[in-house]
Amino acid sequence: MALIVQKYGGSSVGTIDRIRNVARRLIETQQAGNRVVAVISAMSGVTDKLIALAHEVMDNPPEAELDVLLATGEQQSIALLCMAITDMGYKARSFTGQQAGVCTYGSHTRGRIAHIEPDQVISALDEGCIVVCAGFQGVAENGRIHTLGRGGSDLSAIAMAAAVKADLCQIFTDVDGVYTCDPRVVKNARKIPVLSYEEMLEMASSGSKVMQARSVEFAKKFGVVFEVRNSMNNNPGTIVQEENPEMESLVVRGVSIERNQSRVTVSGITAPVAYTAMILTALAEAEINVDMIVANTAHDGMARQSFTMNMNDLGAAQAALKPILPQLGPKARLDTESGLAKLSVVGVGMRSNVGVAATVFRALAEAGIATGMIATSEIRISTTVEAGDIEQAARVVHAAFHLDSNEG
Ligand code: ADP
Ligand code: ASP
Ligand code: MG
Repeated sequence: MALIVQKYGGSSVGTIDRIRNVARRLIETQQAGNRVVAVISAMSGVTDKLIALAHEVMDNPPEAELDVLLATGEQQSIALLCMAITDMGYKARSFTGQQAGVCTYGSHTRGRIAHIEPDQVISALDEGCIVVCAGFQGVAENGRIHTLGRGGSDLSAIAMAAAVKADLCQIFTDVDGVYTCDPRVVKNARKIPVLSYEEMLEMASSGSKVMQARSVEFAKKFGVVFEVRNSMNNNPGTIVQEENPEMESLVVRGVSIERNQSRVTVSGITAPVAYTAMILTALAEAEINVDMIVANTAHDGMARQSFTMNMNDLGAAQAALKPILPQLGPKARLDTESGLAKLSVVGVGMRSNVGVAATVFRALAEAGIATGMIATSEIRISTTVEAGDIEQAARVVHAAFHLDSNEG
């Protein structure tokens, strides 16, 4: 008898009809002779509504209380799903994160999973129940509720699959798998049958939000092979697993886009080399995630440093940097620019192929799209563009690498 973990995201449980659809799928999986653990998100839009409600009460709601509030979204959907399964004549039991033994650490609203103690989950399976766990939540050592960051139910599912030693982990969503680019942006993007953890991780962390990046890191660390599939059909999805030599045959596997990027530039720096450490320490202490970093010395001999971050962090970044400006130089100043987006191309084949960057920038230049900051990893090239150019940028770069379905 196989043990299968199936995660259903917000849109897959977004209406009562869809909850019934998930109930049917879970029952079918169990009836096929499997033990089934479902990990469920809040109904689509619910988490956003709860966040908006909190901000109606106050500007900066305490994150510990925000966690208590947000965790209720998943609590609603697990209960409704168990009711739907019961109504169809089968046994189901719901588990909040705490009841499922999900032990967390770290900060509120972005907790991390330390480990899972799945004894209660296993007992319910032994009793013949379909187990329905709330994604996105766990409990800290001090007994307080943690949520796991946006999209965190993916992490709950992968971690649960590792903890119960599942034979199969399936992430059900509203598209057929991981595509060469967001299919809502590039209409002729293709589904990728198999991807390496590293490629999925680079795509997820550069804006392909079909999987939460941290969940992919966790899967890689614990060797959890998973499949991304559509909850509304039975099409095969995308398998994400350890890299193999065949994957290198394609130089670029996917194009990711990330909107809402801002750039901060500190110029007029005359402080000694330690200035990078000073700037990044101030930002880290304010818990700001810096993405691309570029440093150079201007012709006047003064150094400047630019970095990008999510637009939502801009205010906090300014607040963190202003106090240290005098230490950076008497003329040190801060400039900001918003309305940027980031385009990335990803593929393990880049390690052994040259000319990838040239193709990206030629395609963008031919389309008349200006680029800004550039960053690379071994298997990724990213550049900023104006937000208004990002969709066209994705399309032309996607086509330049022959990723379009009609060119396959
Ligand atoms: P869920 O609610 O199931 O967690 P998400 O909205 O988090 O679903 O993720 C699915 C969405 O991710 C898709 O609807 C799609 O628009 C978007 N997406 C972004 N990049 C990609 C990609 N490369 N492949 C597939 N989907 C992508
Ligand atoms: N409900 C949470 C969110 O909207 C977690 C998830 O859906 O994975 O981010
Ligand atoms: Mg998601």
